[in-house]
Amino acid sequence: TSISSYWRLRRSQRISQEQFEFQPIDLRSDEILNGVTGLIGNTPLVRINSLSDALGVQILGKAEFLNPGGSVKDRVALRIIEDAERQGLLHPHTGSRIFEGTVGSTGISIATIAKARGYDTTIIMPDDVAQEKVNALQALGADVQRVRPASIVDKKQYVNLARRAAVEFGRSGIVKSLEDAHISHELQTGSASVVVTTTSSHVNAEGTVDDPMDEDLLSKPRGFFADQFENRSNFDAHYEGTGPETWRQVDGHIDAFVSGAGTGGTIAGTGRFLKSMNEEVQVVLADPEGSGLYNKVKHGVMYDRREAEGTKRRHQVDTVVEGIGINRMTNNIDLAIPIIDDAFRITDVEAVAMSRYLVQRDGLFLGSSSACNLVACVKFAKKMGWREGQTLVTVLCDSGNRHYSKFWNDDYLRKANIRVDHSLIDDLIAQP
Ligand code: PMP
Repeated sequence: TSISSYWRLRRSQRISQEQFEFQPIDLRSDEILNGVTGLIGNTPLVRINSLSDALGVQILGKAEFLNPGGSVKDRVALRIIEDAERQGLLHPHTGSRIFEGTVGSTGISIATIAKARGYDTTIIMPDDVAQEKVNALQALGADVQRVRPASIVDKKQYVNLARRAAVEFGRSGIVKSLEDAHISHELQTGSASVVVTTTSSHVNAEGTVDDPMDEDLLSKPRGFFADQFENRSNFDAHYEGTGPETWRQVDGHIDAFVSGAGTGGTIAGTGRFLKSMNEEVQVVLADPEGSGLYNKVKHGVMYDRREAEGTKRRHQVDTVVEGIGINRMTNNIDLAIPIIDDAFRITDVEAVAMSRYLVQRDGLFLGSSSACNLVACVKFAKKMGWREGQTLVTVLCDSGNRHYSKFWNDDYLRKANIRVDHSLIDDLIAQP
């Protein structure tokens, strides 16, 4: 197996301040990496010169778009698959198939890594996601199923469909615990509605639980539900990867970590690691319009404006920004909320303005969630009155090339009534 260098940090153990050892990082390594997974992680930090110079602080972006699958989600997909292999839930080259419900990035990462490790992939996604993500998935050999957007309480919602498809695949599926075995059995026979599970044991078509290490079963194809929203491996990828890398790269000089949350894995894992090193590090949420997280942080309730308006699209986050924002609690969001110190609601217009500003000033062509994160960096630095070299680190989750059909399409934005005006960022910077 290939092990990229950050995995050398002991993976089964939580790293505490005493245990954490500085390791030299070698971003432009002379080492020959073992296959595509060797390219994952150890991303550089880049100073956002325009914003840093204008504000007098250091705004640094972790260049996650340099991962081989094009986004921060490579870390998560690799960790989920490695953990599943360690638990005996997946065995390479057995015809096993990984299922996920995702708006795109996670699917692309899973499809990339799955091929490298001998699995097939089925990705189920809403049909309003940018077409280039579908194209990328198909090019990577994934089976892509697009479904009507639906509420999470609907069994036809894409995450629920992915879970069910994994259980129905072959003769076995993955469930959280023995108690869930009977529910899974019902799912296989098509009679249950919605069941929330995480990955840790195995149920067969008879509804009894397999020993994952049973020799007879090792060679059989399995369906595996990656379950990024609930799966702890998502958190661990950041707690043991993104967090320690960031800390090393700034040598402990960090005042704030700013991030959006889709599953919450990035902000929870990275934020908790950074706070474990220095509890003064401020963890700041960048939340797009329509997401309930801002209200959860500020007022303790996951208030969704569409719910109040009584429309059917509740639980859907209605924004041109893809990958962040959510209207329900999940395991990984649960881990995030208690450590978030401040939150900003970022409008589509602000995110679009920031993306255009960065291309104009820095030659940085970024995706929508990265742009949201950088708007929140500016707002937080202004709010704190920071102007003397404080360091804010954020995540540059993916590049603009994943977003040509919506976020980077001026015609689309015009029709959606979203103004494209990068001078808005100058105004934001100039505000007292
Ligand atoms: N940005 C992009 C482009 C993403 O795809 C995602 C993941 N959905 C995120 C940000 C948010 O990361 P997380 O799931 O760790 O909260």
